Amino acid sequence: MHLDLDTSLNWLKGVGPARAAMLQSKGLETVEDLINYFPFRYEDRSNLKPVKQLAPGELATVVAEVKSSRISKVRGRHLGLFEAVFTDASGGTLLTKWFHGAHWADRLVPGTRAALFGKIEFDGYRGEVQMMHPEVEILSGDDDGDLAIHTGRIVPVYEAAGKINTRQIRVLLHNLLQDLPEIADHLPSAIAHRLRFPSRAEAIRTAHFPPPGTPLRHLNDFRSPAQFRLIFEEFFWLQCGIEIKRRKGRSRTGIAFELNDAVRSQILKLLPFKPTGAQKRVLKEIAGDMAQPYPMNRMLQGDVGSGKTIVAAEASVIALENGYQVVILAPTEILATQHYFNLKPLFDKVGYVSALLTGSNTAREKVKLKEMLRNGMIRVAIGTHALIEKDVEFDRLGLAVIDEQHRFGVMQRLELARKGISPDVLVMTATPIPRTLAMTIYGDLDVSVIDELPPGRKPIHTKHFTAEQIDMVWSMVRREIEAGRQAYVVYPVIEESETSSQTQAMKAAQAMFTELSEDVFPDFTVGLLHGRLGTAEKEAAMQAFKLGETKILVSTTVIEVGVDVPNATVMVIEQSERFGLSQLHQLRGRVGRGSEQSFCLLVTEKLGDSGKERIRTLVDSQDGFVIAEMDLKLRGPGELFGTKQSGMPSLRIANILRDPDILAAAREEARAFVDHPPSQEDFAAAATYIRDHWQRRYGLVQVA
Ligand code: ADP
Ligand code: MG
Repeated sequence: MHLDLDTSLNWLKGVGPARAAMLQSKGLETVEDLINYFPFRYEDRSNLKPVKQLAPGELATVVAEVKSSRISKVRGRHLGLFEAVFTDASGGTLLTKWFHGAHWADRLVPGTRAALFGKIEFDGYRGEVQMMHPEVEILSGDDDGDLAIHTGRIVPVYEAAGKINTRQIRVLLHNLLQDLPEIADHLPSAIAHRLRFPSRAEAIRTAHFPPPGTPLRHLNDFRSPAQFRLIFEEFFWLQCGIEIKRRKGRSRTGIAFELNDAVRSQILKLLPFKPTGAQKRVLKEIAGDMAQPYPMNRMLQGDVGSGKTIVAAEASVIALENGYQVVILAPTEILATQHYFNLKPLFDKVGYVSALLTGSNTAREKVKLKEMLRNGMIRVAIGTHALIEKDVEFDRLGLAVIDEQHRFGVMQRLELARKGISPDVLVMTATPIPRTLAMTIYGDLDVSVIDELPPGRKPIHTKHFTAEQIDMVWSMVRREIEAGRQAYVVYPVIEESETSSQTQAMKAAQAMFTELSEDVFPDFTVGLLHGRLGTAEKEAAMQAFKLGETKILVSTTVIEVGVDVPNATVMVIEQSERFGLSQLHQLRGRVGRGSEQSFCLLVTEKLGDSGKERIRTLVDSQDGFVIAEMDLKLRGPGELFGTKQSGMPSLRIANILRDPDILAAAREEARAFVDHPPSQEDFAAAATYIRDHWQRRYGLVQVA
């Protein structure tokens, strides 16, 4: 039959319903999907040799048959050593060995044919050539015709799809690429030409089946010309899509806020301190956006404690003075409450009514507050996602500030933007987002960065202790409290939604509270804060700590974001191996807010390898960006930002960790192309191509 890119894999020779389902589980439904399913590794099996000619020291591939096999002992110890002797038509024999290889016993039985790949060694004891732990592909009788696909060349290695193994995928692709009549090339020809790219068809073919002589190292680094082009292309379309979306945003009508002397003097009146240079710069960028006739879509990044809140307040004044309302959204109730208590006095100073709206308001309060939002009595609404429920309406919403962006996700961002005509949106994040990731996920946002801490901050001393050394930790805490300072002691909750772990952490926190208040620090007041407390109790606990009435606050991670008590100089984190890097960094940022020396004491119970790496990173660095990059490396982008929620695109061959250089190049080309397309037809063609081929995959909502 005639194949094209849209053909369902069901129709492929060798793919029945069962296999089609397995392919589907990997997201492979069409021919196009399959040809874009690239190998993750390559093996050079071009050195195919008769067994008799094998020489020690070389890397070789042989195709041979099992003559005998057995599980044996090594010096009486049972290590599950599996040995098989292979032979071929040349008459030579090759010994193969696997430690802990018992699972091979029923697969490599006498008579089995297999392709073996590995380094040839010499077993001096037996006087034979051997391979230790070779790569094996068992060949079945009907593979004979396909042997040339698996041996005697550079061979692609694929991730299995269900029970379909790499060899079967290799055959499918080999046949498919031979039958496929045409793979259209959409990359703008000027770019492809200038960068000397192979055609798309050629790139796809050779990325699967590299021509002889391609350096294996380039292939496994994903830097062969074919791979480079495919990676570039993937980033290019993604960045074009983002760029087009961004321009589209700019063509919407927004509010052109006026920034005159009256507004400026109100901002000055609001400020409780002199802003840092970085704060001034980002406010200028934000104000510049707000003055534009299209909606602002800007992200404000700044490490914990860098002073984002006041910048948000200044931006709010611009909107307020222009007669608009402002909404400030926080991810947790405690943070919303904290923002409210910090910001209300400032807004009071400049004469604007603010209100707090969270899930804990009673139904009657909610009705009242919503009414006051609708009729414009409330000028600034501060709250949690209760504020973006469908029935919340504003009189004249002009600015939405979203704190801690990554917790909300893109969808909610959009929902909020729909509340007004087109309000300006400022998202703030304290988890610095690595540049590469920001370009991919939030590429349509403009970014401002506060890269300077308020004056007088001292670097926080971070130290690691094992649970056995806890007495040293408590004596450091005691020393600080006796010097008039305060301390946090934190217990992990892995996920806020995980109720059982929350209960566990609450219990641990409660037990620790009892121990600390009764045994360790009977002479100090100890407070307790966890997610299960009612709002009033939480507020009371926070307030007592803020006022210095409690010296030690034992808490689950509810204090993770936003809490601001400059007199607290010690952060003890229990079981810190259970926290993620960014989370630990956030927690640490709760101290070091005053002019005194602060300490972060990381206590660990069971430390694995990745835990060690995390702790070491924190002890060594305080730079949020360094830590975020490390977090990305350790956990991978998918973990860090759940794909669905964040709109993280699923890339086929490109990898933002491995390919940041290609990403940067593609982004530049994409911007230039969208800004100055060779012709309107070229631009329209590109937009259509993105819409049809990449939009759904990359979550680019309504590109064209
Ligand atoms: P974050 O960026 O983590 O939200 P905050 O806005 O909570 O940081 O600010 C951290 C602390 O620094 C607060 O106590 C705030 O009042 C203080 N602060 C912010 N900017 C300045 C400044 N320019 N001068 C002095 N203190 C500042
Ligand atoms: Mg903050």
